[in-house]
Amino acid sequence: MPVQRIRNFSIIAHVDHGKSTLADRLLELTGAIARNAGQHQVLDSLQVERERGITVKAQTASIFHRHKGQLYLLNLIDTPGHVDFSNEVSRSLAACDGVVLLVDACHGVQAQTVANYHLAKQRQLAVVPVLNKIDIKHANPDQVCQDMKLLFGIDPNEVLRVSAKLGTGVSEVLERVIETIPPPQVQRESDFRALIFDSWFDKYRGALNLIYVLNGKLEQNQDIQSLATKKVYPVKSISVLRPAECPVPGLSAGQVGLIACNMRNSKESIVGDTIHLKNQAASAAGSYSPQQPIVFAGVFPADQSKHVALRSAIDKMILNDSAVTVKVDSSPALGQGWRLGFLGLLHMEVFCQRLEQEHGAEPIITAPSVTYRLVLSNPKMIRQQGRDTMDISNAALFPEPHCIKEYYEPLVLGTIITPTDYVGQVIGLCVERRGLQQSSVNIDETRILMKYVLPLSEIILDFHDRLKSMSSGYASFSYEDHGYHLSHLVRLDIHLNGKPVEELCRIVHVSKATSVARQMVLKLRELIPKQMVQIAIQACIGSKVLARETIKAYRKDVTAKLYGGDVTRRMKLLKQQAEGKKKMRMFANIRVPHETFINVLKR
Ligand code: GDP
Ligand code: MG
Repeated sequence: MPVQRIRNFSIIAHVDHGKSTLADRLLELTGAIARNAGQHQVLDSLQVERERGITVKAQTASIFHRHKGQLYLLNLIDTPGHVDFSNEVSRSLAACDGVVLLVDACHGVQAQTVANYHLAKQRQLAVVPVLNKIDIKHANPDQVCQDMKLLFGIDPNEVLRVSAKLGTGVSEVLERVIETIPPPQVQRESDFRALIFDSWFDKYRGALNLIYVLNGKLEQNQDIQSLATKKVYPVKSISVLRPAECPVPGLSAGQVGLIACNMRNSKESIVGDTIHLKNQAASAAGSYSPQQPIVFAGVFPADQSKHVALRSAIDKMILNDSAVTVKVDSSPALGQGWRLGFLGLLHMEVFCQRLEQEHGAEPIITAPSVTYRLVLSNPKMIRQQGRDTMDISNAALFPEPHCIKEYYEPLVLGTIITPTDYVGQVIGLCVERRGLQQSSVNIDETRILMKYVLPLSEIILDFHDRLKSMSSGYASFSYEDHGYHLSHLVRLDIHLNGKPVEELCRIVHVSKATSVARQMVLKLRELIPKQMVQIAIQACIGSKVLARETIKAYRKDVTAKLYGGDVTRRMKLLKQQAEGKKKMRMFANIRVPHETFINVLKR
């Protein structure tokens, strides 16, 4: 296929605006999948994606389409829309020359639409604007076109109107993609060079790399070399995704394909790395810079005999999710484990859910935290650190207050779009979260766009959920990094019967300490089941108790309703009870259910 007849594009949109549905229609229209296969969202193949109804991984499909008598190769990359997965979006865009910007004709432009549009513009990609869901009666496409004109300067006459659900107007999308998105800017006549832009683990073949070929061509059995590690690998197989794997003899510049080459893990298969032919010099394809994680949590095996299994599960998962960072961590209470970095709380939850579902792991996760920066005043600590600042995300390592001169916390610049009816509540939420308004613009009579500087720690847990529920789902939010700012922080410890529980300790802003303390003890009283001993739950700063609750003792005697006699039944019930205990963490003689550590953070 000549380069002139290749188009690489991606569909970007706010969550639920119909990306996956449109991708399915495009695949059907071009015959890549059967029409009405009875399967929805073919590209959402992971269990968690189906359960949560969101796209977590960007997926790729190469399709053919005949346009004005010529056959074109279109590489379509489906991207996730949720704010936590923006890493997947920018990663996908590194292999694209244009995007389909999809906007829901009912809900209009949302915060993520704005963020994604700017991401595409930064990369100087061609934009095909498309309004979706025009089949819905109360859709207001004209108004949405006006908003797109105001916010992006897009001419309303250029906006396509489609219904991804019914298939209306979908073939025009393909035509527009071919006509307005330029062919890839690549050279076929030079030495082979490609960008690894995704990778995942296959049980039989090891790490599989999704590559975008920038120069030359690659054939099976050639030897490739990684620019990052300098290691050499034989190319075992090459295929394209249509969207099922389809073996091909080779790939040429401009194409997207999958290669298996005996790479074993994420240390070898690096997303963003450049590969070239063995012993040839090459420069980095590097138009891709990974996003930095912002939320960190400790991950520990439930018991140390599972350490190796958990490590290999995590290793396979990060291969598939390059945004996650891993550092070895250890704790007196939890033993050997890791400190993982995520792009947000949803990202963390999805990762942990996948660890359990796809790898059968049952890790203990500590309270997620952002990275704070401390300026130290204690000479001994300064000597240990080798400098007078310390970056910290693990609350358990938070130094004593007298060792600290200044505290700094990370901020974000948030964009919120909300219907004017909810402006009062939304402002209230932002104030409660220590936000400072920067600007506010009316998009039209019914909607307003506000910018707020907010502490990152205030938005990672439930800000997005609260915003959604208080606005009946209409307000939307996205954010970008805004540097560090002077703050005042304290470490809040949780004690069960006088013993500190490391998993539950948190770093909080001093103004929030009392309310967080109350909230946590109340929540824990709800989450920890009654037991044979009385349990005192205390939240403290140092030796000062800020809040306290008690769980009264209670004996759950499962055999009470049996009269003496039947021993086997009695044994069976006791065994069941013992099994019920397994998913609990023991603290002295107190059992705490596994999920408590995450649930206590939710309101
Ligand atoms: P994504 O999050 O952008 O991938 O969105 P999905 O493709 O998962 O779609 C979100 C929801 O919108 C699903 O329930 C779809 O059935 C629905 N949807 C998508 N396109 C249309 C459309 O054109 N019309 C209507 N009525 N619903 C649609
Ligand atoms: Mg989707």
